[in-house]
Formats: sequence, C-alpha cells, structure tokens
Amino acid sequence: MRLILALALAAISALAQPTKADLLRGAYGRYRANNDLLFYHLDVRVDPERKFLSGKNTIRFKMLQDDSRIQLDLHSTLHVDKVLYGETPLKYEREEGAVFVDFPETLRTGHTYSIDFYYSGNPVESGRFGGITFKKDTSGQDWINTACEGQGASIWWPNKDQWRDEVESMELIISIPNSLVDVSNGKFVGKTDLGDGYTRWDWRIQYPINNYDVSLNIGNYEHFSDHLGDLPLDFYALPEVLEKAKKQFAQAKGMIEAYQHYLGEYPFAKDGYKLIEAPYSGMEHQTAVTYGNHFANGYLERDWTGVGISPRFDFIIIHESGHEWFGNSVTAADRSDMWIHEGWTTYLESLYVEYMWGHDDAVKYLNGYKPKVRNQQPIIAERGVNKTPPQDQYFKGALFLNTLRSVVNDDAKWWTLIHDFYQRFKYQTIMTEDVVDFFNRQTGMNLTPVFNQYLRRTALPTLELAFDDAKETVSYRWKADEPGFAMPVRLGRKGDWQIVQPAAEWKSLKTSVGKNDFDAATDSYYVSVDKH
Ligand SMILES: [Zn+2]
Repeated sequence: MRLILALALAAISALAQPTKADLLRGAYGRYRANNDLLFYHLDVRVDPERKFLSGKNTIRFKMLQDDSRIQLDLHSTLHVDKVLYGETPLKYEREEGAVFVDFPETLRTGHTYSIDFYYSGNPVESGRFGGITFKKDTSGQDWINTACEGQGASIWWPNKDQWRDEVESMELIISIPNSLVDVSNGKFVGKTDLGDGYTRWDWRIQYPINNYDVSLNIGNYEHFSDHLGDLPLDFYALPEVLEKAKKQFAQAKGMIEAYQHYLGEYPFAKDGYKLIEAPYSGMEHQTAVTYGNHFANGYLERDWTGVGISPRFDFIIIHESGHEWFGNSVTAADRSDMWIHEGWTTYLESLYVEYMWGHDDAVKYLNGYKPKVRNQQPIIAERGVNKTPPQDQYFKGALFLNTLRSVVNDDAKWWTLIHDFYQRFKYQTIMTEDVVDFFNRQTGMNLTPVFNQYLRRTALPTLELAFDDAKETVSYRWKADEPGFAMPVRLGRKGDWQIVQPAAEWKSLKTSVGKNDFDAATDSYYVSVDKH
C-alpha cells in the first residue's frame, strides 16, 4: 500500500509541470545572476507564545552586472516590513515567494552594496520536518526547530533562496525568552540579557553556508562537550535524555576520524562540530547537525540496510554528519544535482563501515541498499525548476560510486581520487559536469558514458551473457541506453573472477564454468545480468 502510493506520487510528480512558484524559486535568472552574495547578518526575535518571528536580515552582495533590481525570497505568509538601502526605503514587488527589490539608481558591476530587509509574521509549518516548528517537549517547555531543505530557508527568513550562490560568512543573532537556549550554526560568540525577558544568542559562521543549513534549535537544552585534537565538539540534549545522549553521541568522534582519514580535515574547524537533539529524525545543518534517532543504533531502531551491519552504529550521526563534507562543504548548485549531497554521503556511510570493520562489511552494507532502488526515473532531475530528484539519488548514487571504485580497479588510486575530489571542490557549489570532468581528467578514462548511464538514464546497464556449452565459450556485451557505454567488469566463478572489457559488440571467452556457476561480480558493479 505504501509502495503503491509512492509509485503513484512519483508518476504524478514526473508529469507535473513546474508551477510559477517553482520557476521563481528554481531558476537562476537575471536578478539573481547579476549579484554575488557576500554576507548575511540575520537578527531574529522568536516569540514562542505567539509563534511569531520578527527581525531583519542585512544582506551584503557584490554586483556582477550593472542593474537596478535583485531577486530575494520570503514565504508569502510572512510580511515585508521594509527594505532599507542606507536610510532610503526601497520599492519591491512580491510574486509567490519572490521579492524583487528595486533601487533608485543603477548598481555598478564590481561594487558592494548592503540592504536591511525587515520582516515579521507567523511562519507556516509544511513538509516532512515542518520547515519551522513550535513544539513542546515532554516536560511542557518550548521546543522550536527549523529544518527547511525542502521548503527553502525563505519559509522563515528573507534571503536569496537558491543553492548556487552562498554567502562567504554569516552572523546569526537569535533573541528568545530568558529560560531557553538557542543552538545555531557556527561558533558561539556570547549571550546578552536584553532586560525585557529576552536574551540574545550570537553565533558567527566563518565559512560559506547554504541557506537551508541555517538553523534554529531553541529549547531547554543541556550542554556537554568534548574535543578531537583542536576541534571542539559540543553536544546538546534535553535533560531527560542527557545520560543517553552522552553515551550515544560519543560516536561522533570515530565518525569524524573516519571521514578525515578518507577526505581530509573536518571542513569547519574554526566553527567546531555540534550535535543537537531535535524532534525529527535528523538534518545536516552545517556545524549544528540535528539528531532525533531515539539514541539507538540503526535508523529509527531498524537495521537500515538489512544485513546486520547497520545496528553497529547510529545511522543519523554517521549520515547527517557526513554531509559536512558533501552537502555543506561541497554543495550542488541546483537541487537537480542533489546526488552530490545524498549519493556521496550514502557512500560515505560505507567508508565509515570500511574504516571501522573492513572492506567486506562495507560492500555488504552497501549492497543491502539494492532493494531500496527503484530505477524509475533518472537520478538527475530537471534543472532550474526547484525539482527534487527521486530517492534513487541516495542508494543508487552510492552503489554507482562503489561501481566507479571497481572501474578504477586500484584502491590506492581510488583513495587519492576521492580525497582530491573533495579537496578540489570544498567550500564550492558545483554541478555533475564538474564531477565528471574531474574523474575523467584524473583517471585518464572517458567515464562520461558511465556517469550518464547511472545518473541521467533510468535503467541499469545490462550485461548480456550468452553461453555455448558445446564450444565452452561465453559471449558478453553491454546493453545500455547511453551511446558508447562501456566499462570493465569481473566475470567467471564467484571468488575467481577475471576482468573483461565488454562493449556494445559481442566478445567471447573460453570457460569451463557452466552457465549456472558463471556470474558477474555484481557486489562490486551494480549492473543487471541477463544470462541465456
Ligand atoms: Zn542525507
């Protein structure tokens, strides 16, 4: 029943034309492309009783073209109080979630400008995690959290709400009733009693950050801390689960060590790493990873890939924190290419397994994802229309990267490749073309058809095997949608593989292994096999 519903929804969303709102959110048009974000100073007062936000975002940007209009975004339920350029109120036009701001003069290429965008209102809750929610914890205290990757950050604050352009740094000032604690991104600077029953909490983000990562976590939090070398690790949980959190959050250290081993230093060392209890499963908010996985291993107490390995670790700590490298540091420039976040981070889970328990368990863990793959739509979605790719971006994306490792067929080279890939693109927003170019250049191989088949086509490549028992031969070829698709694969008797280079045309080899015992190494290469 659940599957049928999911299929029906997938079919509807595949056919649906983008709405005006999706085009305004998804396109990187003239009034976004004409400027480059530098800095946000977001100052928000949160009133839990009225579920009301009020504040301003100071937005600093550099013009890339002469122009007199820019596009910002704010959810239509929130009120634009005023937009100031110095002392001058600016005119603006609202259309769906977009706010087009007009300047009385032409802004000049290469010059830097700053505006103060004042807003207020009651944000709406929507989507899987609510976007922004005003909840109570079990002891009746306020518990307010944001998680708005799907809806966009403009559901609760005004910004240039897209993925391509990130500010270089940010200040976040959150004012809340005195009894509560706010945990946000970046480094905690200090708190100030405002004398009116409210306290302001100041956070400084010293790296580029994508809008959806900017996060509030307001509650009756208890704090404890640790460190990994010079890196501060800060943990926040509600009092009733504090002891459980101290035990479970200890996994953060090994996780960071594993990812540092493969990819290099934790991306946000100056800002530190935080893990924060939240009332939903979890989210990768930069340096402020949120956690709601029941303080138990696996994913929501399930064996997530079903092969007995997931129960050894906390899926949310390992997965959401992996996004610090892929998602937060390396970011997709359009949500269409979100596999750069999810495919890579799902693959990172297997690197954690490999670091902890070895290669065989990593391969087993990854292959446990196969039943979740649907192969109904390509992993890369339409660009410029705010479209979310299908779930295959996670599991098929990770299985594809494991396939790529087998295609490279040299682990020392593979470790260098993924390390250098991360290092090359850290703190940047990129598209799949950048990934493909990098791997082609570094391997000297033409991997474009392989990337295309897995990411831009629906079906898996099929390895066709035709047996001739009398002659003791097997013929083999690739059947794939992508012209020129070819990659090596291991064939033969399980454990006694030989590498062959199938192409679109038939080739054959001598073998004494019969049809029933002859196979392809499908744990290492995620392909279909058609034996006849
Ligand atoms: Zn993820």
